[in-house]
Amino acid sequence: MAQCTLKPDIDFSRKLLEAGGDSLKKCYQCATCAVACPMAPANAPYPRKEMVWASWGLKDNLKNDVDIWLCHNCGNCSDLCPRGANPADVMSAARNVVYQDLVAPKAVGSLMSKPSGLPILFAIPALLWLLVWWIRAGFNNGNWFPTRADGSIVFGDIFYGDYTIDPIFMLTFFAALFIIGRGAYKLWQAFKPEGSVAVIGPKKCWLCHLWDVLVEEIIFANHFDDCQDGPKTGQITHSRRVGHTILVWAFCLLAFVTAVVALGHWGGKVIPAIEITTPLKPLNIIKLIANLGAFLLVGGLAILTFRRIFEKQDTHKSNYYDWYLLGVIWAVALTGVFAQIFRLAQTAECAFFIYYLHLVFVWMLFAYLPWSKLGHLVYRTVALVYVRMYGRKG
Ligand code: SF4
Ligand code: SF4
Repeated sequence: MAQCTLKPDIDFSRKLLEAGGDSLKKCYQCATCAVACPMAPANAPYPRKEMVWASWGLKDNLKNDVDIWLCHNCGNCSDLCPRGANPADVMSAARNVVYQDLVAPKAVGSLMSKPSGLPILFAIPALLWLLVWWIRAGFNNGNWFPTRADGSIVFGDIFYGDYTIDPIFMLTFFAALFIIGRGAYKLWQAFKPEGSVAVIGPKKCWLCHLWDVLVEEIIFANHFDDCQDGPKTGQITHSRRVGHTILVWAFCLLAFVTAVVALGHWGGKVIPAIEITTPLKPLNIIKLIANLGAFLLVGGLAILTFRRIFEKQDTHKSNYYDWYLLGVIWAVALTGVFAQIFRLAQTAECAFFIYYLHLVFVWMLFAYLPWSKLGHLVYRTVALVYVRMYGRKG
């Protein structure tokens, strides 16, 4: 008879506890959570099995588990758990620990997992942009805060687009894309350890499923409708849905503006008719769209921050990963807004310093994306496409 050997991973268990899964030992396997979860289909329930795997330290089971990525963190299971074992937090902790193993270099994942890693994560771009500032100030006769003859401030006089901002952010963006692409591929392979996908759902290619997921789940956030059943989740998911949707639209608008400005700038070198020069005039249509994006960004962040502080404090707590991402996006939004205000007010010292911080935080947002909760969006999309290929909505 074949022997089945369980291989608990003690280090994995320790990381799970540190990442917010410290309540899992209270679980006595009643399965209420699996019944209560509005997302889990009857023939593939969760999160009870994940509670078993987590408490036994079965890292490989959780690493290959598609369901941890399908959980919406609505907290319904935690609200109904009779033992206060907080399965929603355990699912969230499991995702956060699996991230660290999924994407290389793991050292970054390790730094991202704890507040003590934050100074190093901040120091890397801070030194990088300080070096750029120092070199450029050298070309300006040592003037770190140049203003033009008419008193106006142009950030490009220090942080010159062609030779500093564009190449640094392009390299960072493509490196992050490569790393997150590798992580997504590894995840996909982990979901099918036998190496085969038996498609029993509608025979669509994965690209068609990807399109459906992007439109239905990311842009319009329809999945929040499935999370309305719990005793408290109706109100919670409504505010979360509104905040999430506003944030996605803000990112879409800002990405659009960035793409148009980059195209106008670089394309303008070849076709002068489409050239766009910065800074844009306050009433320029691209500038207005950018300001609308910034306004939505701050609004979406305010809603999500408010709900994290004031809602769901009894059974479901926000962890460091939640606050890290919110904090960095807040920092990007506020430094972006204040850099513009100080630039228009023609206070060079404040404007350049805040803009410098803005570059630091934007770099952090992009460069650490594969290890952050924003990366979760990509891994969750992979999981949603995967289960749809099996005929399951997810
Ligand atoms: S987490 Fe709570 S609801 Fe789920 S099986 Fe354990 S004790 Fe029951
Ligand atoms: S947090 Fe919500 S979606 Fe996640 S397992 Fe619990 S009930 Fe299901």
